[in-house]
Amino acid sequence: MPRLLLLAALALAACSHAPAPLGDTPDGDRQPTAGVLPAPPDAALAAIDTVEMRAAHIAELASDAYEGRGTGTAGEQMTVDYVIARMQEAGLVGGMPDGSFTQPVPLRSVRTTRAKDLRFVPDSGDPIALTYGPDLIGTPDGALAELDLSGAEMVFVGYGITNPGYDWDDYADVDVRGKVLVSFVNDPPATASEPTLFQADTLTYNGRWTYKYEEARRRGALAMLLIHTEETAGYPFSVLNGDAYGEHYTGVEPPEGALALAGWMSESSARQLAAASGMSLEDWFRMAGSRSFEPVPLPVTFSASMAFEHTAGVTGTNVVGKLAGQTDEAVIYTAHHDHLGIDPEKEARGEDGIYNGAIDNASGVAMLLEIAQAFTQAGTAPQRTVYFATLSAEESGLLGSALLAANPPVPLRDMVANINVDSGNLYGETDDIVGIGAERSEMFGLLEEAAAAEGLAVTMDPAPNQGLFFRSDQLAFARGGVPAVFVNTGERFRGKPADYAAQVRADYRGTRYHQPADELTDDLVFGGILQQTRVAFRLGYGLAMSDLRPQWRASEAFAETRRQSEASR
Ligand SMILES: [Zn+2]
Repeated sequence: MPRLLLLAALALAACSHAPAPLGDTPDGDRQPTAGVLPAPPDAALAAIDTVEMRAAHIAELASDAYEGRGTGTAGEQMTVDYVIARMQEAGLVGGMPDGSFTQPVPLRSVRTTRAKDLRFVPDSGDPIALTYGPDLIGTPDGALAELDLSGAEMVFVGYGITNPGYDWDDYADVDVRGKVLVSFVNDPPATASEPTLFQADTLTYNGRWTYKYEEARRRGALAMLLIHTEETAGYPFSVLNGDAYGEHYTGVEPPEGALALAGWMSESSARQLAAASGMSLEDWFRMAGSRSFEPVPLPVTFSASMAFEHTAGVTGTNVVGKLAGQTDEAVIYTAHHDHLGIDPEKEARGEDGIYNGAIDNASGVAMLLEIAQAFTQAGTAPQRTVYFATLSAEESGLLGSALLAANPPVPLRDMVANINVDSGNLYGETDDIVGIGAERSEMFGLLEEAAAAEGLAVTMDPAPNQGLFFRSDQLAFARGGVPAVFVNTGERFRGKPADYAAQVRADYRGTRYHQPADELTDDLVFGGILQQTRVAFRLGYGLAMSDLRPQWRASEAFAETRRQSEASR
């Protein structure tokens, strides 16, 4: 080969080693990769064994002896012991910095015990009295026992979003430290001139209520009150205030910049607040939908006298195993091992009260254990370290993964990717898989390559408006900037009618999901989960054996976090 051509070929080879950059617009083309993901040896793939998944892992973890694997229960301890034993058999070592396999997940519950004299007080005119529950709810982020506010300044911050990827900044560098912020939930609607603004109907992380609080904390706000409307939230206010004085589980460590009050107000309260500010809610929506929006100091203050009871709750346990690589970089697999425990009232009535959680998520733990074994059967140590974490307290609000991401075994900037599995496909083989959240980063092209090696296509999330990406453990890693994917069930079942996936979902939701009936029954089949597990293994193996560093698309809320953490490497 002539020298010049040879050089050109080498340059091409070097280029193709990194995934082609994605378009930096929200609807930029998703670029499949080709031949950049190192393939695992057949012996490693052959280690993924559905007989073991079914007869050992799932049969064991979903048996009544494990009592539904409730967080902090004896059943969880049995689960932890089982997982560690299998990890050790596979050749993993403890993944925590002290060499242990476990990370305690202490929980706390918070309850509002007093909420009186709640008022919006306009500079002129009568105060607006609010009732805790119907009009407004909220609890502190941290361990605050009492909150007495009078004359607290309020600022309307529109949708409360800062996202350089969309050239959008609702805070516009206005200092909101010590203020009570008022924000819409969801994200600004797309417009005729920007039909893909905030990904149109797909829920972006900037639209999630958790993001609003995070941004308020970063800005040093005192408190934040989100405006509920059925349209922007997608559910009625009763979902939020149904148990206003009830206990809510949270982590023990308060987040940095903890808000004294993270709450919500009803639409009618928001209408009164807007009117007292000389505007209407419609005015506020119109203003907030504009890129030139700036925070609006309100001529209204907030008063409240509240007390909260914090109780040390149970302590769950995350399990973290690792296969050491040769660099500081890492790939992390996750699957939650907790489920809903036992319902004593059901048991007292003589019904089955054990939430066995065979699909949710003994199946995911089984996938993770088989993937660990496949890695150790590959014959050579990976280039990057591979972590395998089974997580606690997912069902209590993703608290185990939040704790692990806040206290990771290696800094998140060195984590190249998170691959999460939650509720494997026990309904049959498919011609495709769905990678929830993959399209948010360059993980999509890599996942396509891993799937193609198994003869599968990658189908887009069939319900992007439901924000599934924000509802399992990958969220904690994404929030920390780590590109992540939740490898989910495909949509095209082999030999079945086109609507079979929808039928399966309806059946699962109706008869098993979060019910004692989520058991290992004879009708469950293992062809689909085998496909999924092999794809998830190929993806992580390829990332562990290369120097690929997938990046978020520029418009993703997590892109800026990643940019900052990579700058600190
Ligand atoms: Zn789950």
